[in-house]
Amino acid sequence: LFSRKGNKQGNAILTERSKIYAKGMKIWVSDRQDVWNVATIIDTMKDTRIIIKYQDGVESVITSKPDYPLLYGENDYENICDLCELNPLHEATVLESLRIRYKAGLCYTKAGITLLAINPFTELPHLYSAKKVKLYNNNCIKNKPPHVFAVAEQAHCNLKRQLGHVNQSVIVSGESGAGKTWTARCVMRYLATTAVSAEGFSPCSKICRIEKRILNSNPILEAFGNAGTTKNSNSSRFGKYIQLQLNRSNYIIGASIKTYLLEKTRVVRQGIGERNFHIFYQMLQGCSDEDRDQWGITETTEYHYLSRCEDYQHTNELDSDTLDTTKSAMHSVGLSQRQQNCIFQLLCGILYIGNIVFITDEELSSVPCDVDEYDLDCQLTIEKSSSLLGIDHNELLQCLTIRRITASHSRRKSVFMKPCSQVECVTRRDCLAKLLYSRLFNWLVEFINKNTSAHANSCHSFIGILDVYGFESFTNNSLEQLCINYANEKLQQHFVSHFLKAEQEEYKKESISWTYFNFTDNRPCLELLEGKISVFSLMTEECRLNRASDVRGFTDRVHNTLRGSAISKPHISVTTPAFVIAHFAGQVTYQTDSLIEKNKDSIPDELVELVKNSNNRFISEIFSSYSVDIQDDMSGSCKKGKQSDVTVVSKFKTSLDQLMAILNCTTPHYIRCIKPNNNCQPDLFNNQQVVDQLQACGVLETVNISKMGFPTRLTYADFIARYKVIVNTSESEQLNGMGLVTAIMESVFDEEDKENDSMTAQYGKMKIFLREGQLDQLESVRAKLL
Ligand code: ADP
Ligand code: MG
Repeated sequence: LFSRKGNKQGNAILTERSKIYAKGMKIWVSDRQDVWNVATIIDTMKDTRIIIKYQDGVESVITSKPDYPLLYGENDYENICDLCELNPLHEATVLESLRIRYKAGLCYTKAGITLLAINPFTELPHLYSAKKVKLYNNNCIKNKPPHVFAVAEQAHCNLKRQLGHVNQSVIVSGESGAGKTWTARCVMRYLATTAVSAEGFSPCSKICRIEKRILNSNPILEAFGNAGTTKNSNSSRFGKYIQLQLNRSNYIIGASIKTYLLEKTRVVRQGIGERNFHIFYQMLQGCSDEDRDQWGITETTEYHYLSRCEDYQHTNELDSDTLDTTKSAMHSVGLSQRQQNCIFQLLCGILYIGNIVFITDEELSSVPCDVDEYDLDCQLTIEKSSSLLGIDHNELLQCLTIRRITASHSRRKSVFMKPCSQVECVTRRDCLAKLLYSRLFNWLVEFINKNTSAHANSCHSFIGILDVYGFESFTNNSLEQLCINYANEKLQQHFVSHFLKAEQEEYKKESISWTYFNFTDNRPCLELLEGKISVFSLMTEECRLNRASDVRGFTDRVHNTLRGSAISKPHISVTTPAFVIAHFAGQVTYQTDSLIEKNKDSIPDELVELVKNSNNRFISEIFSSYSVDIQDDMSGSCKKGKQSDVTVVSKFKTSLDQLMAILNCTTPHYIRCIKPNNNCQPDLFNNQQVVDQLQACGVLETVNISKMGFPTRLTYADFIARYKVIVNTSESEQLNGMGLVTAIMESVFDEEDKENDSMTAQYGKMKIFLREGQLDQLESVRAKLL
């Protein structure tokens, strides 16, 4: 009934559907709340209407539609490991299968080449036990239930077999709170247990083993880079790509981490109900009396940078426990006690900076730059922060209250000093705090890298694990969301081009029979964002003008220049200037008011000099490697080239392009994390929400393609080299080329299978195209012969 071969035929059959309907049949009916609902046909009318009865007993008359699938109950939903096995393959059956599996505690399901991971929101220890690791390790994963371990094993296995690209990447995507970081951690843990050599293992060894050091980088990065948001109480506020480095024997010998776009604004400001980075609370809640003395914490002080957090009290216990975890992780990656103390002092210094309040001198209408003019409390705060940061308190206040303007007339340069307004002072103060924090974060990443990466000469290959922020859409969206959603568009493009376009094109090139599928290409949206004339190009132009931003003018220019399908004006009810972009995952309204200023991210030179000249050895050290070129980090001030040309977006784009170049020469493995409900509640599966996510990432399209496709393709030369052992030597010597290929295939696969079109491999011009599972069969026969 449900031919998947070509849509025309399928539709013809489906329009005949009303004739098939009979009393007692069960069908799927679209439903406003549950998306799809099951109903039984009570009676059919002469036209296309039918009378149905829902499971709750309610009866209704509906017009039958060609896309209402029949045959409910035919699938063994719980045991469908790959959505490709569903019959019929339909949004309704996909959803039902995922829902039933989820309720049965099965949160992993394959969707062709993608693994879907639905967040259980509860600890399932049996799912990640040592026994589970053993189940997947070095075993044929084909008949094993889908699991994140299977993906990790597959990546390691490909690397060992040296098939295709040697290097592998595991790309984890999904909304905030869907389980990306958790999943990435699982992949790392699995490989850190299975892809290591037993040699040189000594439990009392002084230096912690490399895999332990690698794993211990996680709690540090999470303490400094994660925060509680309204969507996820442990939300990563940066992107990361970890490369596990392997030697020739395919054992892990090191790791290197690259991070992307830390959301540094969070240090000085958080949304309602959101928190600052975990480390601040860990520090305040977990410190001992001795720590307090050393780090300069007073018990009674309230910190302005943490004041927005209402649930601060509820998480006390958690935070104090985790300080120990963070500290021991810091120790194991090689941070000395001195360095740790310096880090906490710096964090404390940042908190005190936030407590500096600027007063306005009524007569002068400017902010006084003399410490003596401030009240005692504020004087103490200024002194405290400057002493923690190793800078002179007068110098600190002057830097925050007086702007240095350098003007150049032909060859002469003149420097002016201009007192700042109260608002400007606050901006400068926050800028200093963000500069210090983001530099500390990047320094930590560099430090971890130094202590975990292996020497380039001994690295043979790598498995990369990408965990980046998922698509975001809030009421207020700004530069952060624009960058995040841009990154997601890029990844989607990678996915689309890798699995859909590349497959189709290669089949065509190889003259393999293939039914074309239409798929949603997000090129137009990317073009709109990063193309020659695009949102980014207009932003750069605006930054280059180096004038006070003209928000309305800029917004109008965006609308007038880029008019097209992917961009539109916001609803009339939105009063602030904005534009709406239709991303592959949904529409997002971006407010333009602070877009340009944020993109400039100008850090006054005098602030950088101030901290660079700190007499606190640690602070001057972390700023000594503060490089000023584009490659550095998201916070780098830029002195190379024209300052206005290097913006947050341009730096982000550069690092993302580099990432894409790396991903393009690896074999990718995709894991899509799905958030089954917004309340982070176990056992709650919201159909609408899941369907939205499945649609946004094109899971249904992928399943269709994979089902019809050939997940493995090898050049004939590679194929023969690896599998010629399968036929006996005398035979293989007589045969050559295609003869040998066929002989190998015939000895492994039954005649019977050939009858079934969907089971046969295809022979292209240069390559053999194998069906899903055929590679595993070949491998298992080969293994038995060796
Ligand atoms: P993301 O990185 O996508 O924003 P996280 O990985 O931080 O999301 O997951 C959010 C929360 O969901 C975690 O803190 C954890 O409590 C829970 N979670 C995610 N995946 C799992 C899992 N496989 N088992 C148990 N809990 C999970
Ligand atoms: Mg995360």
